[in-house]
Amino acid sequence: MTEKYVYNFNEGDKDMRSLLGGKGANLAEMTNMGINVPYGFTVTTEACARFYEEDKKLWNDLNDEITSHIKDLEEHNKKTFGSTEDPLLVSVRSGAPISMPGMMDTILNLGLNDDAVIGLSKKTNNERFAYDSYRRFIQMFADVAMGINKNNFEKVLSAKKAEKNVEEDTALDANDLKDVVESYKKVYKEIQGEDFPQDPRDQLDKAITAVFASWNNERAILYRRLNDIDDSMGTAVNVQSMVFGNMGDNSGTGVAFSRNPATGENKLFGEYLMNAQGEDVVAGVRTPKEIATLKDSMPDVYKQFHDTSEKLEQHYKDMQDMEFTIQEGKLFLLQTRNGKRTAQAAVKVAVDLVHEGLLDEKEAILRVDAKDLDGILHPTLSEKSKKENQPVAKGLAASPGAAVGYIAFTAKEAKDRAAKGINVILVREETSPEDLEGMVSASGILTARGGMTSHAAVVARGMGKCCVSGAHDIYVDEIERFVRIDGKKYTDKDTISIDGSTGNIYIGSLETENPKLEGDFGEFMGWVDKYRDIKVRTNADTPHDAKQALEFGAEGIGLCRTEHMFFKADRIFQVRKMILAHNSETRKEALDKILPMQEDDFYQIYSLMGERPVTVRLLDPPLHEFLPRGQEEIRTLAEDLNMEISEVKKRILDLEEVNPMLGFRGLRLGVRYPEISKMQARAIIQAAMHCHEDGIKVVPEIMIPLSSDVKELAYVKSKVREEIEKVFEEKGKKIDYLLGTMIEIPRAAITADEIGEITDFFSFGTNDLTQMTFGLSRDDAGKFLGLYLDKDIFAKDPFQVLDQKGVGFLVETAVERGKKANPNLHLGICGEHGGEPTTVKYLYNVGLDYVSCSPYRVPIAKLAAAQEAIEHPRNK
Ligand code: PEP
Ligand code: MG
Repeated sequence: MTEKYVYNFNEGDKDMRSLLGGKGANLAEMTNMGINVPYGFTVTTEACARFYEEDKKLWNDLNDEITSHIKDLEEHNKKTFGSTEDPLLVSVRSGAPISMPGMMDTILNLGLNDDAVIGLSKKTNNERFAYDSYRRFIQMFADVAMGINKNNFEKVLSAKKAEKNVEEDTALDANDLKDVVESYKKVYKEIQGEDFPQDPRDQLDKAITAVFASWNNERAILYRRLNDIDDSMGTAVNVQSMVFGNMGDNSGTGVAFSRNPATGENKLFGEYLMNAQGEDVVAGVRTPKEIATLKDSMPDVYKQFHDTSEKLEQHYKDMQDMEFTIQEGKLFLLQTRNGKRTAQAAVKVAVDLVHEGLLDEKEAILRVDAKDLDGILHPTLSEKSKKENQPVAKGLAASPGAAVGYIAFTAKEAKDRAAKGINVILVREETSPEDLEGMVSASGILTARGGMTSHAAVVARGMGKCCVSGAHDIYVDEIERFVRIDGKKYTDKDTISIDGSTGNIYIGSLETENPKLEGDFGEFMGWVDKYRDIKVRTNADTPHDAKQALEFGAEGIGLCRTEHMFFKADRIFQVRKMILAHNSETRKEALDKILPMQEDDFYQIYSLMGERPVTVRLLDPPLHEFLPRGQEEIRTLAEDLNMEISEVKKRILDLEEVNPMLGFRGLRLGVRYPEISKMQARAIIQAAMHCHEDGIKVVPEIMIPLSSDVKELAYVKSKVREEIEKVFEEKGKKIDYLLGTMIEIPRAAITADEIGEITDFFSFGTNDLTQMTFGLSRDDAGKFLGLYLDKDIFAKDPFQVLDQKGVGFLVETAVERGKKANPNLHLGICGEHGGEPTTVKYLYNVGLDYVSCSPYRVPIAKLAAAQEAIEHPRNK
């Protein structure tokens, strides 16, 4: 039996997306639901895979299969390919299993040639329409199938409009368009070196080939990499009978969402253009009208569309993104899919769908992509700054949030400046898929053209990035590199602020504020908390961070790095004295000065966190990092220590290390200078006792970093214990506390059975554990890791997404061995990976008790954890 590579729309359904692609599967589903969908067929993703095996050629059996489906289509429509009486015209569209901007998208009106255009004109009695369709087809075919820049054609069209002294394409008559077609064919021949193909079947084969080939164009590959999409999936091709939105004033075409994709509001949201074809809406050539106005102009069509939208929502149980065409007053659906949305809309839609009885809470939790949640947690312009500053221009509120930064005019510039840590706003006339990388790097995107469904708007929403599009009052000169706003010129030296929730544009850097997490978000996170069964803590070093994390729902602090406390201006001097001191007496003097300050730090954090667990880590970085570099600072220090300047300099040199990350840091400091660990332990315990006096029963968790061996840990631990006992004695009472360590060195993981025996908890420091497992410096890896990703040597940056095979093996080993030695061992992670959704899911299954991450990632980690608990609950 020969393999089947082509399916008619009535042969598929929505669950066949891996074979038919998303578009094909949904066209099939809608056909089966009885929705008015122009008939057609889908060439499968398996055909795409074979296309690559066949050296990027369509093979004989496939050609035969396509021929037989064209016959079906001809019979179904009672039209013939290439006919001079009533020609069959089709659209050709790509459709991967996952929607993917960057690939070849659409060719409309395929099948037109010098004969068929006469047939179309006769059949419709509309010559203007026929030639308008033909010129569109030539341009689109040339652009998307053959890679000829569409500007070559647009120039011709503009010249014709100028010649006739008209503004809109629709003002050109049939004869004008005939001229345009002739010129287009000439342009095609000049550039392509051959005549525009006249055989419809040849046109179709070229189009299908182009779709398959576009799967591997650079933009598609980049998009897949950014979105973790499997390269081997391939794309399907949909060939669908044409319906025409450009048949006159009772025809039109549009794109609409069943709810607002920016806010989630339950109201049809979209745009349409009368007497136009699909690409006019997306390209932003003419300004589309809001869907609500269709209610007045074509009430029946509006009602039909509204009802269809509801029917599809009920069926898919999700917000839909639909394309439609009205041909002479009759509505056709050309596509439906679950709509891309901002995180804010995702949460609102999920919550509303539960209230509407379409989803249960667990399903709603699975509907929101954890990493997208970031989009809600980002700042907006503060009310104060909005009051104090007047917007200078306004565009469409395409993707919410606020962004402040320097103006960048190209994607490359945005990328380069962002890499240097500069916040930039990518300001473009209009974005195209080539801008993708720049959009990723920019803090926000501003475009002068394009509607709510333009490339910039759709992509920005997908990324959860602030975007203002279609700001018609601004003029962007990408060549001269300036933007004129409100009569003034601004360059890359200027900063602007944009508000993606209102569309407002401001000059200068406005103040931003953090989001309020109530309402739908609060309700949603309530469900997340209900189904989640792993704790989520935060990494916070200051009361400010801790407060932020509490607002985001942190359940404790998994890592409080104390070194930041040492750097504060009023104490660094004492810290330096302590490090440089000749003898333990002088060192003790300095430490005595630091002690009350540290105690106060801890007291403040404990008071804020109440009885939630707080893990404080003893000093970790190499002492050298604290030492002064400036002459003046060295001189003052020498004076105070009663030392020669040269002596101080020598001490500084002595402390310098070739490999500080593998050197004198972590608990090694405690081995050399136990009095530092003791001072910190005392500060922690005294602060906790102070809280007990206030009625807050804090159980402090003291964490010793960087152990590699049970004996070194035992040594530091004994010093810490000794000091704590001393505090208890002095105070005449005791409190409970926990003493644990970080697992950051492979040897610690391997010897976790020994280490576990003398500790209450492990916290996996996966930043260092990754560094040491790969032998890859966490500070320098960025210089070449990009190369590894480009060359596909690494699929992911292991400092962001935990390497489960290697680093994960060590974590699992440590968990197993540690638990065997100490069944009560408490387990957590505090490396950066603790807020990364796939890592959280993995570590949940490894059996950790909690993850800890930066404050902004707390809701993300919570959601990922809840999703895993729902989808793959672990054994309790
Ligand atoms: C770690 O190594 O993962 C860790 C949390 O510690 P730091 O990043 O401070 O080295
Ligand atoms: Mg570390």
